[in-house]
Amino acid sequence: MKIFDEIESEVQSYARSFPRVFNRAKGELMWDEDGNQYLDFLAGAGTLNYGHNNPLFKDTLIDYIQNDGITHGLDMHTKAKGEFLQTFNDKILKPRNMDYMVQFTGPTGTNAVEAAMKLARNITGQHNIVTFTNGFHGVSLGALAATGNSHHRNAAGVSLNGVHRMPYDGYLGENINTTEYLDKVLSDSSSGINSPAAVIVETVQGEGGINVATIKWLQDLQRTCKKHGLLLIIDDIQAGCGRTGDYFSFEEAGIEPDIITLSKSLGGYGLPFALVLMKPELDQWKPGEHNGTFRGNNLAFVTAKAAIDHYWSDKKFSDDIKRKGRYVSERLENIVSQYGNGNFTTKGRGMFQGINCVSGDIAAKITRNAFKKGLIIETSGADDHVVKLLCPLIISDDNLKKGVDIVESAIKEVCEAETKIPEEETYFETEPSKN
Ligand SMILES: *Cc1c(COP(=O)(O)O)cnc(C)c1O
Repeated sequence: MKIFDEIESEVQSYARSFPRVFNRAKGELMWDEDGNQYLDFLAGAGTLNYGHNNPLFKDTLIDYIQNDGITHGLDMHTKAKGEFLQTFNDKILKPRNMDYMVQFTGPTGTNAVEAAMKLARNITGQHNIVTFTNGFHGVSLGALAATGNSHHRNAAGVSLNGVHRMPYDGYLGENINTTEYLDKVLSDSSSGINSPAAVIVETVQGEGGINVATIKWLQDLQRTCKKHGLLLIIDDIQAGCGRTGDYFSFEEAGIEPDIITLSKSLGGYGLPFALVLMKPELDQWKPGEHNGTFRGNNLAFVTAKAAIDHYWSDKKFSDDIKRKGRYVSERLENIVSQYGNGNFTTKGRGMFQGINCVSGDIAAKITRNAFKKGLIIETSGADDHVVKLLCPLIISDDNLKKGVDIVESAIKEVCEAETKIPEEETYFETEPSKN
């Protein structure tokens, strides 16, 4: 369609990788306007854990609209909001012994991160926040300062400050525990890193290249935070809502973050919704201090509640995610042992997995080849060198196999082409067309 070239800004990104016009979607499938079917292994970058247009919540949403339920209500008390809070408390927080206050922020992840960082700074009276290499927390200025990616940072136009960057788990090699460095600089009054307000961290770095923090590292990080009086903020926007197998990605580590951010799949139906959870004693906001017009997306409250009711009332869904995760990791282990000349490695936890192809060029060829075979899949990481498998968690076993099969054959073809005819790259189209 010409209109996209005519008037849609150059800022487009995902649209460039998948140059089709999409008009229908269901579960793990999408269709373009010519009727071609695709398997969706991108899933709104982790926003569609429960699939597209999940039939279990669709009628609930339609009924709510038909009955003239409140759609927009600023932050006023509505029945939909109350019911969401009740369900979230009864089925998510209480069974996990989690005692948190819930703040409704603007509906984007980045706004929840802004609120979390602001709160930590105001409570502690400190300015700096410890953030990690390859972290991604959003692109509004405060969150962007916490984000590592230079492509995003360079667009800021002003200096990004108020953070100290620390090496994430594994950044300096497998055998170096980077929390020891954090502990050391926080203990040294001349390290130049004095009394930060908080640490903000992802348990698995999604945009940063599916870098997984070990359970021990997360526990050590919490201990270091406690020792030095730093608040621990877990950004669970992409890793949460079941992606790693549990509702919260940090459950396995048994840690208790002071502040938690959630968004992406929280709304259940792909509807915008974000939250900050904070320990009760940290709820030191004054009325309206962190504001926003769209803090009351009631349609999202309805589907978020339905998602929790349907998937998180017992352990079945969680067990199923873990089972599928084991299947994916076995398949990926097998794939990297066959292709990539021993250079490729697998990464991930639960259904948050990827293949490190070392080269961004190779990874792009693989995802482009996969798209030709009907699979929507993206890359992430500093050099876009990690092929990221992020399918809806509700995917059928058949389609999960089908998707991984496509990844495998795309990799096989790319690797064979690379070794056979290194001098002439005629096998693949060069750049994806923008039309
Ligand atoms: C996507 C993401 C964000 C930002 O969310 P937006 O809705 O894009 O603003 C923040 N943190 C993490 C970990 C994310 O994956």
